[in-house]
Amino acid sequence: MKIAILGGGVIGVTTAYYLARSGHEVTVVERREGPGRETSFANAGQVSAGYAAPWAAPGVPLKALKWLFQEHAPLVVRPQADLRMLVWLARMLANCTNSKYATNKARMVRLAEYSRDQLSALRAEVGLEYDQRTAGTLQLFRSQKQYDEAAKDIEVLQKWGVRYELLEKRACLSAEPGLAYSCADIVGGLRLPGDETGDCFKFTDAIYQAAKSFGTDFRFGQTVCSLEGDRHGITGARTSLGVVNADAFIVALGSFSPFLLRNFGIRPPIYPVKGYSLTADIVDEDRAPVSTVMDETYKVAITRLGNRIRIGGIAELSGFKTSLPADRRSTLEQSARSLFPEAGDFTSASFWTGLRPMTPDGTPIIGATHIPNLYLNTGHGTLGWTMACGSAQVISSQIAGRNPDIDASDLSITRYQSCAVSAWYRR
Ligand SMILES: Cc1cc2nc3c(=O)[nH]c(=O)nc-3n(C[C@H](O)[C@H](O)[C@H](O)COP(=O)(O)OP(=O)(O)OC[C@H]3O[C@@H](n4cnc5c(N)ncnc54)[C@H](O)[C@@H]3O)c2cc1C
Repeated sequence: MKIAILGGGVIGVTTAYYLARSGHEVTVVERREGPGRETSFANAGQVSAGYAAPWAAPGVPLKALKWLFQEHAPLVVRPQADLRMLVWLARMLANCTNSKYATNKARMVRLAEYSRDQLSALRAEVGLEYDQRTAGTLQLFRSQKQYDEAAKDIEVLQKWGVRYELLEKRACLSAEPGLAYSCADIVGGLRLPGDETGDCFKFTDAIYQAAKSFGTDFRFGQTVCSLEGDRHGITGARTSLGVVNADAFIVALGSFSPFLLRNFGIRPPIYPVKGYSLTADIVDEDRAPVSTVMDETYKVAITRLGNRIRIGGIAELSGFKTSLPADRRSTLEQSARSLFPEAGDFTSASFWTGLRPMTPDGTPIIGATHIPNLYLNTGHGTLGWTMACGSAQVISSQIAGRNPDIDASDLSITRYQSCAVSAWYRR
C-alpha cells in the first residue's frame, strides 16, 4: 500500500520505519530541512514509562493558581484573546477529577509500557546510537512536604506494577554522586530504575536512516497546505511543491495537526504547550548527573546526554510563538546551578523551545477517523518520545487491518468527537 505520512518529527519518522519495514511504499512530507527539527529536537531526554501521567490531575487547578504568582514557576499562562486556548484549558480542567485522572493515567501507562518494550526490541533490531542510558530516573524532593506527597505517586506506581525506590538523602547521593556538590536542601527522592534516557533528535535521525534503508521517500522542505478529497476518502496532500498521492494518509504534524483537519470536520483538541531546554557541555564529569534528575520544585528535568547536560521543562500557554525569553532560561539555569553547580558550561549553553502537542486528557490521538483512509498519530504532549514506538506500532497494525497488541479502542479521536458529528460528515 502507498502511505503518506505528514510530519517528520519523532512520531512521523518512527511510524514510517514500522510501515516501510512491513513492506509498504512510504512517503514522509516534512517542511523542515531534515527529520526531528521541531518539538522532537531538544526535549528533556526521558523515556519514562514510570512517569506517564496526565497533567490534568486532582489538585492541579489549585497549584496552577499558586504558580501564576510565583517566580520561576513551572506553569506560565500568557493571557490573550485566544478562544482555542480557553476552550482547551476548560477541557483540561474538566479532566482534573479523581475518576478521569484514573482513566487517563491507565491509558497512558498502557501505551507507554508497550512503547518501552517496542523501543528495546527496536534497539536490538537496528542497533541505534542516541546517547542512550538505562540508568533510571530520580525525582528529587527539596522539602519534607514534597517527600511526603510522594506517597500518592507510590500508590499509583504500585497499582501499575512500576518498580520504584523511595530514597533518603544519602541514597540519592549514591544514585547521583554529582549531587554531593549541590547547595540545595535535598530531603530525598523517588527513583524509577526502569526508566531510560537519551537524545530524541539523535534517535529520530537514526530511525530516519533505518526507514530510508527500507525505501522510505523523505520529502523535506515541503509544507503540507491542504488535503484533497471528500468524506469518502483523501486522494492527495497538496504541498508547497505539488500533490502527494497515496492510498492512506497519516497526520503526524504535532501541534499543527488541527489546521489540516478542520475542513473535514475533524477537530482534535490539541493545543501547543510551550517548553524550553538548555544544553550545556560538561566541564566537570564528577559533578554532572548520571541519568535524569527531576527537580520537583521547578518541575525541571536535568539529563546526562553523552558529554552534555540537557535541562528541560516549563509549561507555557502562549499560542504558537517560539520566542526565547531570558526569564525562562533563568528558571532552567537556577535549577541546574543549584543541583549540579559547575558541572556544565551553563553560560554558553544553547537555549531552545518546543511546542508540546497537548490534548486535554494527556493521551495522544491514534487511529482511524470517519474518513476511510485518513489516520491520526498526534497529540503526544509531554511524553511523545516515550510513546513513539508504541503509537507507531498501533497505527501500523490498524492500517494492516490487524488488532494492535494493546487495546487501542480508547486512543482514537472518537473519545473526543461524538459519533453524531462523524455520522453527519459521513452522509
Ligand atoms: C521542553 C520539552 C521537554 C520534553 N521532554 C520530553 C521527554 O523527556 N520525554 C518525552 O518522551 N517527551 C518529551 N517531550 C515531548 C516530546 O518532545 C513531544 O511529544 C514529541 O516531540 C512530539 O513529536 P511529534 O512528532 O508529534 O511532533 P514534532 O516533533 O513537532 O513533529 C511534527 C513535525 O511536523 C512538521 N510540520 C508541521 N506542520 C507542517 C506542515 N504544514 N507541512 C509539513 N510539515 C509540517 C514539523 O516541522 C515537525 O517536524 C518534551 C517536550 C518539550 C517541549
